[in-house]
Amino acid sequence: MAEKLKKFIETLKKTHNIEIKVRRSIYRRSSYTIRVFPNLDVVIYVPFYFTQKGVISAISTNLSWIKDRLKYYRSIRYEYSIYKKIPFLGEDIKICFYKRKTFKLEENTLFIPEKYKNDEEKLKKAIIRWYKREFKKILKERLDYYSKKMGLKYNKFYLIESFYKWGSCNCITRNLRFHWRLVMMPIFIIDSVVVHELTHLIEKSHSKKFWAIVYRYFPEYKKSDKYLKKITHKLYFI
Ligand SMILES: [Zn+2]
Repeated sequence: MAEKLKKFIETLKKTHNIEIKVRRSIYRRSSYTIRVFPNLDVVIYVPFYFTQKGVISAISTNLSWIKDRLKYYRSIRYEYSIYKKIPFLGEDIKICFYKRKTFKLEENTLFIPEKYKNDEEKLKKAIIRWYKREFKKILKERLDYYSKKMGLKYNKFYLIESFYKWGSCNCITRNLRFHWRLVMMPIFIIDSVVVHELTHLIEKSHSKKFWAIVYRYFPEYKKSDKYLKKITHKLYFI
């Protein structure tokens, strides 16, 4: 990155506590886009040949908006302390360190090997790994249940991290993808995303036919969709 822009970004970090990333793309034509994400990442997307001056002026123009969004996201973040409790399938579960070597969930408490106790970074990573492991088991079970009910077959499923979608479906390979943070939400939310993606195996677009199938197998879809939109920003505490 060129010197001037680098300096500008360093200053932003020092004076405003904003860490901004610049992403250049050859596919972008003329304008820029700035996004502030719930995990407090700030990214500016610009065309490949956008000048340093252009990037600096775009950021400056939008600085108060960026600050507002960050303030908002900071204010609604879950007050979870990873040393106290975390969300799992819509419940708050306690965290407790113990002497054994593997994670164990028992009676609303997640037991974590004590070697993670004094290293927040390692602890976070270990919790995320545990979330993903549990989610794979749950997803497999829900996918098998609904795919049987709907009379269709999927191929494989994967976990993703995305700010834009909870799931996706490739109709050709019949592979499905799900956002791993769904594991923090109640099972009816997970089911709604499962049914949504499975329905795409029958109907690619969000047509009338698509929604008719979704509602046939998941009549509560509207409720879960609303819930999902409301709670999304709270899932980025880790
Ligand atoms: Zn869809």
